[in-house]
Amino acid sequence: MTRSISLLGATGSIGDSTLDLIRGDRDSWNVVALSANCSAEKLAKLAIEFDAEIAVVGDEACLPELRQHLSGTSIEAAGGQQALCDAAARPVDITVAAIVGCAGLAPTMRAIEQGNTVALANKEALVSAGEVMTAKVAEHGTTLLPVDSEHNAIFQCLTGNDLDDVRWITLTASGGPLRTKSLAELEATTPAEAVAHPNWSMGAKISVDSATMMNKGLEFIEAFHLFPVGLDRLRIIVHPQSVIHSMVEYRDGSTLAQLGPSDMRVPIASTLAWPARMDTNCRPLDLASIGELSFFSPDEERFPATRLAREAAHAGGGTPAVLNAANEVAVAAFLAGQVKFTQISAISARTLDNYAPPAPNSLDDVLAVDAEARARASEMLEIA
Ligand code: NDP
Ligand code: MG
Repeated sequence: MTRSISLLGATGSIGDSTLDLIRGDRDSWNVVALSANCSAEKLAKLAIEFDAEIAVVGDEACLPELRQHLSGTSIEAAGGQQALCDAAARPVDITVAAIVGCAGLAPTMRAIEQGNTVALANKEALVSAGEVMTAKVAEHGTTLLPVDSEHNAIFQCLTGNDLDDVRWITLTASGGPLRTKSLAELEATTPAEAVAHPNWSMGAKISVDSATMMNKGLEFIEAFHLFPVGLDRLRIIVHPQSVIHSMVEYRDGSTLAQLGPSDMRVPIASTLAWPARMDTNCRPLDLASIGELSFFSPDEERFPATRLAREAAHAGGGTPAVLNAANEVAVAAFLAGQVKFTQISAISARTLDNYAPPAPNSLDDVLAVDAEARARASEMLEIA
């Protein structure tokens, strides 16, 4: 039986991993929509390889290039935010939401409105929209499956259990490439050093987030929405080997953990095949060669991002969207060489101090908070 799939963010790291799995089981999948922002040539190649119905670039200025690369094929080409949302609304069995940043929110919401299955990698969308997204999921009876390795691990550990029996959900964090650096060393970190993750190969933005620990902060908020056990039952532990992807402790003292190689194809495969399993050709986990697993408490002096995220989650309302937007602005500025590594969290903190919007009630409200927070964070860059 073939299943239909759309992949938002097809040209990225999660896109690559997803398409690799589909490539390995080509006859089982009918690819409907593939999207990028502006990687028109790569997108066109993928659309041709996977015989997609439609290829969409979020940036309309890149549409002529996409059309050129698709000329002579019957694949539709489209561009712009509305076209992206329209493509996301085409009916499919499963949508993989893998655009980076709040830019993925509107198309992800359109995919959710179909009421089928959405495999969510785009954590910034859930962090920003929070209850607006989870209410949409409930309204349409959508199955939301977490792709993020920690949340996928927790999802697997919760299967067959009752949330009321959960004592703790523990998110593991690798600690990133700068885990052992001093504050002075952190201040002098270059973009190349920050994106050089020891365990995972990922897009630039999430790699910087891993280095600042904001990735874990965003994941804390993501977990709060996906697994409603309450903020005081969520915690973070640093586990540099990234072998245990997260854990759930139950009230009887049992802790369930999911282990696997540091390869996003594993959690993606678990969402594509859910509730069944599928083959992957990932390297098997070789615990004897790994030897030891270690664990540390997070150091929020050197890495304040998890504290900022916890406080934002407690504040609720529009505050997580402010944090996410400010972080996106600050990370982009860091990657562009405009601010220092340590200023990323400082800019987020200052934006949070400066802007506390009420709870958004709709997608438009979330996007308005996101836009205002971006404007304020951009002003902070001037004085950073
Ligand atoms: P990448 O930067 O590798 O890819 C991002 C994708 O989104 C690309 O297809 C890109 O297109 C597209 N895109 C970027 N900006 C826009 C925009 N404004 N409008 C429309 N499309 C856009 O990111 P990753 O694959 O690493 O991450 C994707 C998401 O998955 C993120 O939310 C990340 O946090 C999450 N995630 C990623 C993991 C990983 O291992 N990579 C692990 C867990 C979660 P283009 O190529 O044209 O720029
Ligand atoms: Mg993760």
